[in-house]
Amino acid sequence: MEGKRPWEAAQEEFACDHTQTEIRRMTVSNGVQHWVRQCKRCGHNCGSMKREDVPGLVRLNPVPFDEELRQSWQEQRAGRFQQGSART
Ligand SMILES: [Zn+2]
Repeated sequence: MEGKRPWEAAQEEFACDHTQTEIRRMTVSNGVQHWVRQCKRCGHNCGSMKREDVPGLVRLNPVPFDEELRQSWQEQRAGRFQQGSART
């Protein structure tokens, strides 16, 4: 058997367990604010939180949801998969 296929390696490299999350504030298009947990590594939205479960300190100093982190992770991931599937 040969080693891993490139796309399999890419899949493992970009697999994320979302073990480190941070509470972020997300404002949706109609101006409603949501509190969500965002993975600090890949930017994944790990689900919303009830406002009353958000610690007061976080509410006072809200960190906006990092959409760029999420997008750049996905771009990197897509790029790696393209490399992996490119024929030589
Ligand atoms: Zn993650």
